[in-house]
Amino acid sequence: MRDVKPQIREIEMEIKAYHYTPGPLGLRWLEGIKKGIIMAAKCRKCGNIFIPPKIYCPKCFSEVEDLVELREKPYLASYTIIYRDFNGERLSTPVIVGLVRFKGVDGGLIHYIEGPVEKLAIGASLEPVFRSERRGSITDIEHFRLV
Ligand SMILES: [Zn+2]
Repeated sequence: MRDVKPQIREIEMEIKAYHYTPGPLGLRWLEGIKKGIIMAAKCRKCGNIFIPPKIYCPKCFSEVEDLVELREKPYLASYTIIYRDFNGERLSTPVIVGLVRFKGVDGGLIHYIEGPVEKLAIGASLEPVFRSERRGSITDIEHFRLV
């Protein structure tokens, strides 16, 4: 899989042409990622816990200021297998992209999935694999590994 990813990631770098600000809550969330901690936003008013964090609660529209650490292992809620690159050329090894969710948490993260293909299933347990060098970005998580 590793020999295939650089093709995908080169295109992904187009995102660098734009400048997004994460906002105060998003910044704290990314600082957590940099430390190897995945957090979710928690609304004080209705108790909704969701990821990725947003400054306003999607359920009650209250301003959200709190983040809570997610200690449980996430699970694979959905996935797709990519067989071709953006130019339509067949990849030597397919790339798996999945919806990573956490129990009791609304929303989820779309990210690369790796691991033994026999474990690839909806509901499979995952664990984040963080890069050794981090810069406070979602890409500080290299992928989620099937466990
Ligand atoms: Zn709320």
